[in-house]
Amino acid sequence: MRIGFIGLGAMGFPMVKNLLAAGYPVTVYDISPAAVDRLTAEGAQGAASTLALAPVSDVVITMLPADKHVKSVLMDPAFAAALPKGATVVDMSSCTTAAIQEVEAWYAPYGVDVVDAPVSGGVEGAAAHTLSIFAAGKPEALARVHPVFQALGRDIFDLGKCGMGKAFKNLNNMITTCTVMVISEVYRIAKKQGYDTDKLYDMIMASTGMSRTFQARFPRMVNGSYQGGFKQSLGRKDLGNAIALGEGEPLPVAKLVHELMLANRAYDDCDMAVAARLFEEKEASHG
Ligand code: NAD
Repeated sequence: MRIGFIGLGAMGFPMVKNLLAAGYPVTVYDISPAAVDRLTAEGAQGAASTLALAPVSDVVITMLPADKHVKSVLMDPAFAAALPKGATVVDMSSCTTAAIQEVEAWYAPYGVDVVDAPVSGGVEGAAAHTLSIFAAGKPEALARVHPVFQALGRDIFDLGKCGMGKAFKNLNNMITTCTVMVISEVYRIAKKQGYDTDKLYDMIMASTGMSRTFQARFPRMVNGSYQGGFKQSLGRKDLGNAIALGEGEPLPVAKLVHELMLANRAYDDCDMAVAARLFEEKEASHG
């Protein structure tokens, strides 16, 4: 099974490395040539465009930022026509249910199955191939790509029809983003009081406040390390998608967190642990 992989960022890079390690021939494309080069150095085949990637890909995986990128890459008639007969498109990006359902319907005349398969577990989970994969789509398409998912993740869910993966992913990230915000407030209290953050971390990791989000983000806040990881802009996008799913519901916590993340947008390219810097300027001016 030849794999074409589009979107070689924080997640795409380790995911392609795992596919190569599992023995799949992988052709890669990204608008950043440097991202392509990093993976050709690891044994992937580089493609100069999505059109060059299509004919050599029985399975196309996209790992792109959001709806507009997924739609512009995939809903391209020349790209769809260049795919081998019986090809499967697997979008592992976190985008909206509406977007992936539109992509699925758009591919129907081409006889190409579309699988909705966003992931959870972060860059660390991608590197360790322990991602949770929220798969949804036609059963025969899910069965076809299952071995590929096994090379990428550990818990592989079958959530039903295409679109459910995105919906559940956005709900998961509503919990994650809101949790990060409250962890940042715990961090601020600990810092203000001069508490031993190593002891606090160890205690919380053994207590009810523990979560994978706490485990990954609290040390980043303590160390001020915000490079790599999960960009704040992407987390806010997922939270916005989740709020849209709940249209008509009050959702005061989610909406407030979304506003706070917007207020912190100067740090959008940083890992979302950068919530810890939200009130920094105000604090400095109180100096
Ligand atoms: P990223 O910004 O690091 O990478 C995105 C990549 O897509 C970049 O290399 C960019 O150059 C490329 N790209 C953008 N437009 C393109 C186009 N038109 N054609 C080809 N390449 C294009 O983002 P990421 O952290 O890898 O996240 C990717 C997706 O996975 C997002 O939807 C995100 O929400 C989701 N996700 C991220 C994490 C995480 O921890 N980083 C975890 C789970 C899910």
